[in-house]
Amino acid sequence: MTRDARLPAPPETPVAEETLRAFFAPDGPLARVIARYEPRPGQLAMAALIARGLRERRPVVVEAPTGVGKTMAYLVPLLLAGERTLVSTATRALQDQLDRVDLPVLRRLFPTLDWAVVKGFGAYVCLLHLRRLQTSSRGEFATRTEAEAFRRLARWAEEETETGDLDAYPEALPARVRETVTTTAEECLRQECPHHAACFVFRARRRAARAQALVVNHALLALDMALEGALLPPVPQLVVDEAHRLAEAVRRALGITVSAGRWHWLVGRIRRLCRPLLRLEADEVRAVEMLAVQAGVEADQYFARWRERLGDASRRLLEDERAPAAPLREATEALARAMADVPTGLSLEDRKLWERSQELARRLMHDLTQIVTPDPGDGETVVRYAAAEEETVQLVRLPLQVAGDLRASLWGKTLEADDPESPPRPVQVVAVSATLAAPSPGRDAFAWFREETGCPETALTLRVPTPFPYRHCARLYLPEDPRALDPTRARDPRERDAYYDRLADEILALCAPCPGGVFVLCAGAGALQALWERLAVDPETEVSRLRETDRLLLRQGPIPRARLLRWFQENGRAVLLGLRSFWEGIDIPGPALSLVIIDKLPFAPPDDPVMAARSRALARATGDPLAGFVRLMLPEATLLVKQGVGRLIRRRTDRGVMAVLDGRMVTKGYGRLVLRALPPAPVVRTIAAVQAFYADGHEEDGR
Ligand code: SF4
Repeated sequence: MTRDARLPAPPETPVAEETLRAFFAPDGPLARVIARYEPRPGQLAMAALIARGLRERRPVVVEAPTGVGKTMAYLVPLLLAGERTLVSTATRALQDQLDRVDLPVLRRLFPTLDWAVVKGFGAYVCLLHLRRLQTSSRGEFATRTEAEAFRRLARWAEEETETGDLDAYPEALPARVRETVTTTAEECLRQECPHHAACFVFRARRRAARAQALVVNHALLALDMALEGALLPPVPQLVVDEAHRLAEAVRRALGITVSAGRWHWLVGRIRRLCRPLLRLEADEVRAVEMLAVQAGVEADQYFARWRERLGDASRRLLEDERAPAAPLREATEALARAMADVPTGLSLEDRKLWERSQELARRLMHDLTQIVTPDPGDGETVVRYAAAEEETVQLVRLPLQVAGDLRASLWGKTLEADDPESPPRPVQVVAVSATLAAPSPGRDAFAWFREETGCPETALTLRVPTPFPYRHCARLYLPEDPRALDPTRARDPRERDAYYDRLADEILALCAPCPGGVFVLCAGAGALQALWERLAVDPETEVSRLRETDRLLLRQGPIPRARLLRWFQENGRAVLLGLRSFWEGIDIPGPALSLVIIDKLPFAPPDDPVMAARSRALARATGDPLAGFVRLMLPEATLLVKQGVGRLIRRRTDRGVMAVLDGRMVTKGYGRLVLRALPPAPVVRTIAAVQAFYADGHEEDGR
């Protein structure tokens, strides 16, 4: 790893506990800059552990539920240590909170603090493509709406924005426009680009190279690890927030995914490149354009066949798929071969783009081959599968384990010392999340995290208790009749309808006394649809009313998530049926969210090839056929339930009911393990108890 000349030397004096105590005191520096500041013992304990980790040069792993103030708890000791710090998050919401709230507050205490949010190439306008399109965009956009959206974006990029960050663009951008004005790490011309000096991507990177704090997302961090530090500057302090999502992000970064979209993107690029060249070497260029179109057609046909093969299944393991992929592979190969002859008379820029496109065609061919070809290590180290994604299909090849990679590229990461004679020093790693600890019989609460991420046993660990008064502000409802709400009934065609009827009735009964908004978090799309059909007054529409009431009923689907959430919050009494993306990263304080219902424990479905392959590998490694359930499925489902119910109480003043409508919470031993991991609200088992709670009663059934 290269050494950055601007890195300060390691601190002579480690952060002392008294310094931290003073910082977090009721009349300390934080109290001066945070309105209505309240000292929180859990926050101080977390900060103190991080300071100890710095002193002892040991990684730190902390579970800190909502309300602890975890970002301040890690930022303060790390900033006091005076070294450059990188924070990686899984969600945009947390990235925004760091960028717009926490770091600006801390700048009032650390006046020289500067930071940069670093994003991937796809987040910024690429000036090269923007300006090429400004010169000639004829035939590029299929509709006038797209063409006008492009013109407005171009004006914004040229005249209004400093950063070119599309997340800050004030209007929704059609996917086609976004795709044409952004680039990828593989396509970017870097120093050979005529716009490199003004480029938004590289301006952001130059800012990042100088900043004391960097904020990135897990996808970029994982990609940087895969590319051995090629994307991000070296840092001596690294925080992985929302660390329960890290292993999955790394699995994705080290894996390969192909879909028709990758061919469409490439074909679009090549056609755009060919269009003005047709007058040069018309025959050769026209041949390339035709081969590109042909490859696009083959891709459409190939992935359409996959759509048919999948039928109703959401995922399916791949076998030896070389023969069905042959026509697409050959068409892509023919395209790459034809592009090997670069037309003469091209500008330097066009020549570079041409070469890049040829490399990308080769890369596509290579990725497709890797995915469709059986691997001698299949089942041991990788899993290959097809996955339905709305209207399209992705073919995926993922490594089963990333713990070894993370041991080397995260926990074992070192930084060259300023003095070339000195040995490299370890990077200080802190992993935190609101949900990291999970039940795994016979093992400690962080066993799942250590096994998944390769976190060393020497790491200091802490579970911070919730600061919220759950005994008073919340109830946890479990079904009165657990056998009627056993979700395994939904697998039996004879029982399916009766099960969903009963589930819908239970939801209606819970909604009736609730004075505020309701989230119904569904573990799968099938359940969401079945509930929508039973709960909506008019199931044919996208937005409806809840049966037997006048409540607005919304569901995750074609309406963008941000709009659904806005309607939900503005309405104040709406009911929203959501899938996985609503289980975490959503912060709706106050009565607008007063009831969170989870339909069932979100175990990976029986046909999930990734979980099946991971479980088999674990069973083989441990000799225990149940290891997959005990060490993977149960911890992961528990963390998700903790995330889901965690949407309810966001502030000390919030009040409401969490309901897990899975009878197995009561009838199975593992259900009771999940229960013990949930926030400490009193359990209630009757609708009458829920009514009494909302009416401000204090009945209890006891846990
Ligand atoms: S350097 Fe890369 S990202 Fe920047 S304008 Fe050029 S091609 Fe686009």
